[in-house]
Amino acid sequence: MPRTDLKGMTVEELQDFLRPLGEPAYRARQIFRWIYKGVEDFDKMTDIPKSLAAKLKEICYVGKIKIHRKFESQKDETVKYLLLLQDGEVIESVKMEHDYGITVCVSSQVGCPMGCAFCASTIGGFRRNLTAGEMVDQVLVIQEDIKKRISHVVVMGSGEPLLNYDELIKFLRIINSNLAFNISYRRVSVSTCGIVPGIKRLAEEKLPITLSVSLHAPFDELRDRLVPINRRYPIMELLDACKYYIIKTKRRITFEYTMISGVNDSKECAVKLARLLKGILCHVNLIPLNPVRERVFERSANERIKLFEEILKNYGISVTVRQEMGADIEAACGQLRRSFLNEVKK
Ligand code: SF4
Repeated sequence: MPRTDLKGMTVEELQDFLRPLGEPAYRARQIFRWIYKGVEDFDKMTDIPKSLAAKLKEICYVGKIKIHRKFESQKDETVKYLLLLQDGEVIESVKMEHDYGITVCVSSQVGCPMGCAFCASTIGGFRRNLTAGEMVDQVLVIQEDIKKRISHVVVMGSGEPLLNYDELIKFLRIINSNLAFNISYRRVSVSTCGIVPGIKRLAEEKLPITLSVSLHAPFDELRDRLVPINRRYPIMELLDACKYYIIKTKRRITFEYTMISGVNDSKECAVKLARLLKGILCHVNLIPLNPVRERVFERSANERIKLFEEILKNYGISVTVRQEMGADIEAACGQLRRSFLNEVKK
């Protein structure tokens, strides 16, 4: 029988796993704590009996992803990691340092099925969902590597997290657990390109996380082209789901808007966007595009971004321009993995 990977199980799931072995509930908490301290060897879990460690070795293990390569920015503290999964797939994660703490940007899928027009993650298509354990491990291996505590997590790497819903929720519960990383939900953001049923379902969980919605266009015709899921869940339907999320969680939504030269950065777009979002409890994050080699789009000029920001502000919309980090290390989502796969193919 294949052995079970314990990494990615919640405390409750570990309790269920250990119950048939006659183990008390507190044993699950002990093992859970060890796993997220980075201990994989049951013999090193010093507060569990030797007989149990021997039994566990027969039926389960603690999985671990590995750092395959690391790319350090020369301009700031950003580090991009190419991580190797146990089945040979690779994913990207990013560590960023801010004055308020250290953030890890986590991937939720290998590749991505969503086909957003400016994104490198989706070019090679979708490979598979990540398990909660593989998502947690991105935080764990980076924390071990930098020997500093991770304070913030954003699920904004490759993949659409709301299409990997159950594993996402387990991941959030584990990083929030005071037996594991103890990262407050308020320091966690989950980004979606607009999966309406997923947003409504997440609203019901009432987790005080920040929901980040990749909007990128203020009208359907343009958004259909940039974010193809818009054909299924058009903007008004998406905004209704966002309003529902705000009512349920009392949390402000962040709308991500990537600034693409000559595509979505006109004055008219800014005015349309402002009118669309007026009255919604939200914040707009303008993101200067990180150009992707295989894509034709270019980054908007700084003056355009500034003007766009001013227009939104004049309409009373809360807005910031995202600080560009790690631009010298193929910072666009999925770009490092693309380079790696191209290299392997040669
Ligand atoms: S932007 Fe996000 S959802 Fe869209 S293709 Fe890229 S990874 Fe997928």
